Amino acid sequence: MPSASLDEAREILRRTFGHAEFRGRQAEVIEEVLAGRSAMAVLPTGGGKSLCYQIPSLMRPGLGLVVSPLIALMTDQVAGLVQSGVAAARLDSNIEPWEKTQTWERIEQGELDLLYISPEGLMTSSVMDRLRRTPLALIAIDEAHCVSQWGHDFRPEYRMLGRLAEIFPDVPRLAVTATADARTRDDIRAELRLEDALEFVASFARPELALSAERKRGAGHKRVLELIEARPGRSGVVYAGSRDGVDKLAESLRAAGTHALAYHAGLDKAVRAERLETFLEADAAVMVATIAFGMGVDKPDVRFVIHADPPASIEAYWQEIGRAGRDGDPAEGITLYGAADMAWAYRRIDGREMDDTVKAVQRRKVGQFYAMMDGANCRAAAVRRYFGEEGVEPCGQCDLCLSPPESIDATQAAQKALSAVHRLGGRFGRGRLVEHLLGKTKEPSSFEAGLTTFGIGKEFSVNGWRDLIDQLLFDGLLKEDPNDGRPLIGLGDPEGVKAVYRGERRVGLRKAPEEND
Ligand code: ADP
Ligand code: ZN
Repeated sequence: MPSASLDEAREILRRTFGHAEFRGRQAEVIEEVLAGRSAMAVLPTGGGKSLCYQIPSLMRPGLGLVVSPLIALMTDQVAGLVQSGVAAARLDSNIEPWEKTQTWERIEQGELDLLYISPEGLMTSSVMDRLRRTPLALIAIDEAHCVSQWGHDFRPEYRMLGRLAEIFPDVPRLAVTATADARTRDDIRAELRLEDALEFVASFARPELALSAERKRGAGHKRVLELIEARPGRSGVVYAGSRDGVDKLAESLRAAGTHALAYHAGLDKAVRAERLETFLEADAAVMVATIAFGMGVDKPDVRFVIHADPPASIEAYWQEIGRAGRDGDPAEGITLYGAADMAWAYRRIDGREMDDTVKAVQRRKVGQFYAMMDGANCRAAAVRRYFGEEGVEPCGQCDLCLSPPESIDATQAAQKALSAVHRLGGRFGRGRLVEHLLGKTKEPSSFEAGLTTFGIGKEFSVNGWRDLIDQLLFDGLLKEDPNDGRPLIGLGDPEGVKAVYRGERRVGLRKAPEEND
């Protein structure tokens, strides 16, 4: 009788957790688990994932096991549960031995409802031996995207969790995550052996958020200042890519008279705490920060988030932009991005010590993010589709919905640019390439002056060609090779380039370039 047990679940929701009604897809997920079936729940951050396993753990006989990757998250959740009168505990490397012994005693007595544990802690043989003898209500795998190389936060120790399917064949397992594109979800299913589990994907819509993005033009500081000054009396967060960038930007904003605070992990703990306090209490303050700022910061009236430097994936974008408008009132997410940022993101991935497959995934995420930034269709819809939502309508309030970009056909110009890059053999950077196309190179070598592409592109101005080259970079038709900080431009995806040469793939240029002067 599923509905009867759902009534009981609602009763616990009210009595123990103090919430009036289930939200989003919580009720469906809980019903599925209560019926003893495994499930996968993709709910946005703040969507109430934890209740999906906490309530069934309280209702089903046995211990509810929660696998979580971060000690900080476990600590918070367990403290909150204990405060609500739930018998919960955690086992992690910070727990004293005597406390562990006590926790195991409570488990053996059947006194504990919820046990939080890290994946590596869980899969040790001593813990496994004890748990085999313990009746389990369910096994929840939090942050399940960590199992996938396609996710943005792959953790190899999650791979071992696939074995839980054989060890506990009769215990329902619930995988929960806030971010999983289609490929990651498939991977979670395969890795965690959840082939038959129903999948519950909640809406990722944030109707209070108006999104926009613009290509960087020159020094970003001036633009960020304009954006802030156009929003007087409001609080916001400005993300910059480095500590140094944060300090400089905050300083220049302060010099211009805005109430800007700098925040990053390089600052003294006391300084950080003080600035956080100031920000939380202020009616109109701007926190200029690296992404170190945000986790667990709950200021409901953040009215805008500005990316002075863009993130490197749609997951990170949504998480960071999502810090605006928590109170449900209108808020904005504004992102400044450029081809140089994209090249920088690629370079960082290449420089990391990682498996090649993981690198390839992260590179792909960078490409998807910039394609969304530079795309022509509703941003909110693009993000939601990326997270697996179906039947998504345009939001009607992002910059692309409000003023659909005019696009001119620039296929011919693109052919010229691609063939110039081809003839030059990838020896030039962006500036030299533009000069070449315009025939403006000072003292060209006889090799260069002799090429048919020299001066072939008089139809565009310098800015027009820069726009087009950016566009080709964002489209993956050109790529930037770092070359020790003096980036050189080479041809990108060979199939795509071929299609453009043949005229089978059209290249639309977003903004009409200015006339040649
Ligand atoms: P997630 O893990 O999905 O980010 P949490 O489980 O931490 O989200 O829940 C986020 C917040 O929403 C918590 O403060 C929680 O108490 C609250 N919450 C969860 N479910 C409900 C509900 N049905 N009604 C009201 N508040 C809820
Ligand atoms: Zn839109």
